[in-house]
Amino acid sequence: MQELTHYINGAHVKGTSGRFADIFNPATGEVQAKVPLASKDELDQAVQIAAAAQPAWAAVNPQRRARVMMKLVDLLNRDMDKLAEALSREHGKTLPDAAGDVQRGLEVVEYCIGAPQLLKGDYTDSAGPGIDMYSMKQALGVTAGITPFNFPAMIPMWMFAPAIACGNAFILKPSERDPSVPLMLAELMEEAGLPKGILQVVNGDKEAVDAILEHDVIQSVGFVGSTPIAEYIYGKGCSHGKRVQCFGGAKNHMIIMPDADMNQAADALVGAGYGAAGERCMAISVAVAVGDDTADRLLEHLVPKVEALKVGPYTSGNDVDYGPVVTAAAKANIERLVQTGIDQGAKLVVDGRGFKLQGYEDGFFVGPHLFDGVTTDMDIYKYEIFGPVLSTVRAQTYEDALKMAMDHEYGNGTAIFTRDGDTARDFANRVNIGMVGINVPIPVPLAYHTFGGWKKSMFGDLNQHGPDAFKFYTRTKTITSRWPSGIKEGGEFSIPVME
Ligand code: NAD
Repeated sequence: MQELTHYINGAHVKGTSGRFADIFNPATGEVQAKVPLASKDELDQAVQIAAAAQPAWAAVNPQRRARVMMKLVDLLNRDMDKLAEALSREHGKTLPDAAGDVQRGLEVVEYCIGAPQLLKGDYTDSAGPGIDMYSMKQALGVTAGITPFNFPAMIPMWMFAPAIACGNAFILKPSERDPSVPLMLAELMEEAGLPKGILQVVNGDKEAVDAILEHDVIQSVGFVGSTPIAEYIYGKGCSHGKRVQCFGGAKNHMIIMPDADMNQAADALVGAGYGAAGERCMAISVAVAVGDDTADRLLEHLVPKVEALKVGPYTSGNDVDYGPVVTAAAKANIERLVQTGIDQGAKLVVDGRGFKLQGYEDGFFVGPHLFDGVTTDMDIYKYEIFGPVLSTVRAQTYEDALKMAMDHEYGNGTAIFTRDGDTARDFANRVNIGMVGINVPIPVPLAYHTFGGWKKSMFGDLNQHGPDAFKFYTRTKTITSRWPSGIKEGGEFSIPVME
């Protein structure tokens, strides 16, 4: 049994708390490793090391810090296959999807190469007589991030790359379900030239998280995960005086207008609904068809595509559309919600229940499910399922469809499929959701824009990556400066006397 470690001060360090969590191979259901769960003391040791290392790192000029990011890009590309394999083995997603997870993180590292430009301050010459005013963006000090299981490469990089490019030290508390890739990323950062103690990985659960939230030295906390935990971390982190940004769960609606290309819409729904077994915060989980005729035409295209989905282990290579879900508990929760859908009167038009794969009977596989006739009072509509389950809701008008998306408590992403520019424009302007796709089902913004939902999908103000990340990981100092007149008034030839 492999025993994973923490990564402290440039070395793999065994856990000392005596507490561990099992790490499964979701495809086989076997426990493949155990990860140590840090105590408050272990977290504190990492914080002290970070605090000692950070001032020297902040004093390194931004261009040199950016060169570490440049080198990291090379190393990520060099190790892409290795990282993707480790990621798939613990998470279960397919290899191309795992490489995409690394790639979307790498793109934020590329953005951080622009740190010298992004960190430039403002300057006002002659703000008053002989007075200049300027502001500079300074690192916060020791920062921390708590990340979810579903993007174990991308989300840690979205946090630590900008934090470190800004001159901070960063402590990463990754998901205890798939911590191997975060540990590998910390090694790569040091290979790229990062000094020891600037990026450390402390594995753990609620105990480590609470220790982060309560620690006086930690200045900021970034969190990505489910909404109840996001809310908890935001409240507790703020009450301890930290800068906090928390990104939570989702229930993303895709509106299908009568004039949409149904084949294109169905293809989009299959990828966005079932890719990564639906374990994406930007997955589409609700298809809102406008009009019964639209719904019927959509399902005509969609049902055969859902039925044809290939589910299997990542080791089957490109022959698989999606893999297992992450744990037996996740599988049980999905099955429970599917049953509520049936009990509450939705029509299960593709029934993935009882799915078994020969040779992988103990794996956490869930077959594809497609519901029709879902209504807004049903549990499968209200709650995030985070599995390969797509709900079709029939709206009578565009206004009804828009209202549904707007009334849902989550506001991460949404999409509209239409050929009508006026409807698309109206939707984009009025909808109260953070990321909108127009004929694009998963509108994840690129690295130089920012990522973030609204409503119960986000607590805080600044978004992830893009310019917002450089604001989140720095604070502004503004200097007003006046110099008394100096020797330019000429030399003084008499002996100086006190006046
Ligand atoms: P999770 O909330 O269970 O765990 C996230 C992190 O919080 C982990 O590091 C975990 O160790 C920690 N944690 C769990 N329970 C805790 C507790 N009681 N106290 C303190 N810390 C705790 O989320 P998950 O299952 O790993 O990830 C899936 C969720 O993340 C989904 O809801 C998904 O929508 C969401 N997500 C959101 C975004 C986004 O950007 N909005 C992106 C990815 C995932």
